[in-house]
Parts: sequence; structure tokens; C-alpha cells
Amino acid sequence: EQGIGAWLAKRRLKSPDKVALVHGEGDSVTYRQFADAADRFAALLRSLGVGTGDAVAYLGENSPDFLQVMFGAARLGAVFVPVNTRLAPPEVAHVLTDCGARVLIHDPEFGDRVAAARTGKSPRVVVTGAGTADRPGLAQLLSTTDVDDAAAAEVSMDDPAAIIYTSGTTGRAKGAVLTHANLTWVALNCVVDYDVVSTDVALMISPLFHVASLGMGALPVILKGATLVLEKGFEPGRALAQIQRHGVTMLSGVPTTYQLMADHPDWVSTDLSTLSKLTCGGSAVPTRILNAYEERGLSFSQGYGMTEASPGATSLPPAMTRAKQGSVGLPHFFTSVRIADENGEPIADGGIGEIQISGPNLFPGYHLLPEATAEAFTPDGWFRSGDLGYLDADGYLYISGRLKDMIISGGENIYPAEVEVLLGEIDGVTGAAVIGVPDARWGEVPWAIMTVREGASVDVDTVRQFLDGRVARYKLPKNVVIVDELPRTASGKVRKTDLRNRYSG
Ligand code: ATP
Ligand code: MG
Repeated sequence: EQGIGAWLAKRRLKSPDKVALVHGEGDSVTYRQFADAADRFAALLRSLGVGTGDAVAYLGENSPDFLQVMFGAARLGAVFVPVNTRLAPPEVAHVLTDCGARVLIHDPEFGDRVAAARTGKSPRVVVTGAGTADRPGLAQLLSTTDVDDAAAAEVSMDDPAAIIYTSGTTGRAKGAVLTHANLTWVALNCVVDYDVVSTDVALMISPLFHVASLGMGALPVILKGATLVLEKGFEPGRALAQIQRHGVTMLSGVPTTYQLMADHPDWVSTDLSTLSKLTCGGSAVPTRILNAYEERGLSFSQGYGMTEASPGATSLPPAMTRAKQGSVGLPHFFTSVRIADENGEPIADGGIGEIQISGPNLFPGYHLLPEATAEAFTPDGWFRSGDLGYLDADGYLYISGRLKDMIISGGENIYPAEVEVLLGEIDGVTGAAVIGVPDARWGEVPWAIMTVREGASVDVDTVRQFLDGRVARYKLPKNVVIVDELPRTASGKVRKTDLRNRYSG
């Protein structure tokens, strides 16, 4: 037996009594218990009819069950499908139908969502915990399941281990098939680039259903036999208390989580001296957050990636934060990045082009989407990210934005991300999206759609004045629209397609 299912069997031999998981008010699970639980889950899933290649969907918060089900499914050669708990019922239905889930396990509080997402071919549904009036509970089913040695299947590294859905920022969410090899290599990339050691204690403040916290937060820690402290949901005060209580060394999150901790009243009084590894991805870390953490002697590994890369593609070493400000760093250790022009020819001179990625953490394709899969790779097998960027002379990557979001105004390219970062520095601005709106004279012109703090006076003149001299004049928004809220995906990204549709006509 190979694949990630074998990790726990190894851990049971090498570090059986080491604490693997801490949850709730300090309950802990050792690696032996973790491995035993995964074996029991494998037997349970099998008794529910799950076999090699079948999808097991999981809709729930961070908990030992989440990981035990995932590793149990892996032992069977089944495919784990984590579902974002913030998806609306039609989006949940899309995921369940698309992956053809044989079994769905969900936290009881998501029962209504699951009921509303019912589709034609429904999976067997089990709830976590003790069960409800109409649903069997995992705990109860497990107590009557015998561990069955025959449950473990032959699994090859190239078999699918998970299907993880993309955020759906540019269209309908696509199921990225991640193999056992993909998950192993993303974990190895992180072990090498973040120096993960067995004495690390990682606080999981981000949900495990996000590919970044699963692939880059949890998996490297489990591979090394270190400890994961699982948090249900994120509350900044509680996160700070947990750091101190458990002597947390590692954190992974997005800029907002870090911001909320630094803004919390307990920030100053919390002992953060055990922290040494902070990773942050999804978008650039604003300077004020960098400063707040630097004052406490802490710096980030900022990263860039996508679901298709399991998801880490590049990482900026903390020591380079200032020297390479604005960069998302170097390719991960076992991963490569290149920049290509419209014709697919590599660009070597620091010019902007499409970011293309290769390496053993890159997915083999999208579930049931052969055309999208074919389009996603170059003839020589590199993944086309659909993002634009450039490499500096030292090989550091800078992101310019998405190919689909690029604005061409009077023949000049405008990369919205460049302008959005500056807009975020304007006093009172809480969110900004720059989109291209059709224009008879210029083809397209940039508009800024923004959210502002209550009472802030931000308009097209203040915005243009602020940007003038900081970027070329053709990049200045022709119009500024203040809205109550920007349309966002469940993972918090602005749906620019919606904005373009709204303001185009
Ligand atoms: P879909 O593929 O369904 O349209 P998505 O691309 O948003 O959605 P994800 O895989 O969650 O789905 O996100 C990956 C994308 O997020 C990248 O392609 C890139 O555009 C953006 N991204 C990731 N990290 C960063 C970063 N550090 N800075 C800027 N953008 C980033
Ligand atoms: Mg994408």
C-alpha cells in the first residue's frame, strides 16, 4: 500500500505516543489513535459501500473527524472531497453531483444546507457526532464497526486522493483532481521550504476544506509527525489565547486573519515568542500588517498558488520580505515557474506574460472536464495558470493579475492588481476592484468599484489625485463607484465577471 493512507501506518510505528491532534478545550489524539481511527473509518466507509475511486464528500469544520475520514478514505483508495461550508445550496449541489459522492459526511449544523442541496442521485448521508433524529451519527456507526484488515486497498501514487473545487472566481467551480503524489509533494515542498520539524505545533485557524490549509498547513505537519491544534472557526481572541496556551510555532492564514489578530485588544499582552513560522497566501500582505508583526519580531512566508498546484507554487522567504517587497517569491523546492507570451514562447527578459508552472504537485486534470484539462496545459506539459506576472533578475515572481482581468485601454495594458494595491492605501478604503468598461474611444477604460468605511469621503477626484504620479495616467480610473459590498466567492475573492456584467451596459 502506498499513497498518503500509508503515512499514518508509518507514524503509528515511528511516533505512536506523540500528540497528533489537539481539539476543543485541550483534548488530544496521539498518532496511534489517529491511525487507528483512520483504519476504523476505512472499514466504516467500506461498510457503507465505498470502494476504490468512489468519492467521499465532507462538509464540516476543523475536527479530528475531518482528517480521520480523509485518511480513512485514502486507505481505501477512495477520493476525498472537502466541501466549503460557505457555499450556497446550489453550489453544494453542484459539487455533490459533479463528484458523484457515494457518501456525504456533514456536521449536524449544515443539515438544512444539505437538505436544500438534494439532487437526483443522492449520496448516503451521515452526520458527525452522535447523530440526529433522521441521520445516523459517525460516533455511533464507528462503535459498531470492526476494524477490517482487508479494508486497505492497493493504492498507487498516481491514483486520485482528493477532488478539490476551485473558487469559481472566473466561472463555475472546477473539480481539480489531486493524486496521492500531488499531496505528498506539496507536503514535501512545505517541509523543505518552511523548515517543518517534529516539534512544531501548528494552529489551524483556517478551515481545512481550503486547499491551502489542508495541503500546506495540515499535511506537512502530519508527514513530519508534528502537532496540529484544530480550531473550529476563527475568533482572533481565542486564536491568540491558543498560541500562548499550546506554545504554537506555526500559523497559516490569509491577510485578514492576521489583521484581525493584530487588531485584537489581547494582541499586546499575548506571548508570541514561540511563533516562528507564519505563512500567508491568497493575496498580498498589506504593509500595515507586515509592520504590526515585524514589531513583534515576526515575518511571513508569503505565497502564491492555486488549487491545481495542491496549491503551493511559490513562496517568499521571510528574510526577503523587504528586499523583494511585492514579490510572491521563488518556486517551491520541487516546483518550477516560467513566463510565456501569447504564443506560448517563454519570455526570459523580465517581461510580463502568463505564469506557467510544472512539478510533481501539479494536478493531472479536472474531473469530467477533458476540454478544460486540455486547455490547462501547454503541449510540453506546463500548467497555464491564467495569471500574469514577471520574474526579476534573481528569479523572484511578481503577480500582475489574471489574464481575463487585464484591461487594454488605448493599446496600453493595465493590470488591475497594481492599481488595487494602491487604492487600498487610501484612507477609508476597505475594498477595491478595478475592471475594464467598454469605451468608444479607448476600447476599454478602468473603473474602480470600491467599499469604504462609513463616513469616509472618497470619490473619483480623490482617487485620481492619490494615484496621479504613482502610476501612469492611463491607469487612473475614469469612474469610481462606491458600493456596500463587492460580490465575492465563498473563499472571499471578488467576482469580477459579475462586476463587468453589471457596469458594461
Ligand atoms: P477559478 O479557477 O474557479 O476561477 P480561482 O482561480 O480563484 O477560481 P483558486 O484556485 O482558489 O481558484 O485560486 C487561485 C488563484 O488565486 C490564482 O490563480 C491567482 O489568481 C490568485 N492568487 C493566489 N495567490 C495569490 C497571491 N499571493 N497574490 C495574488 N493572487 C493570488
Ligand atoms: Mg483558477
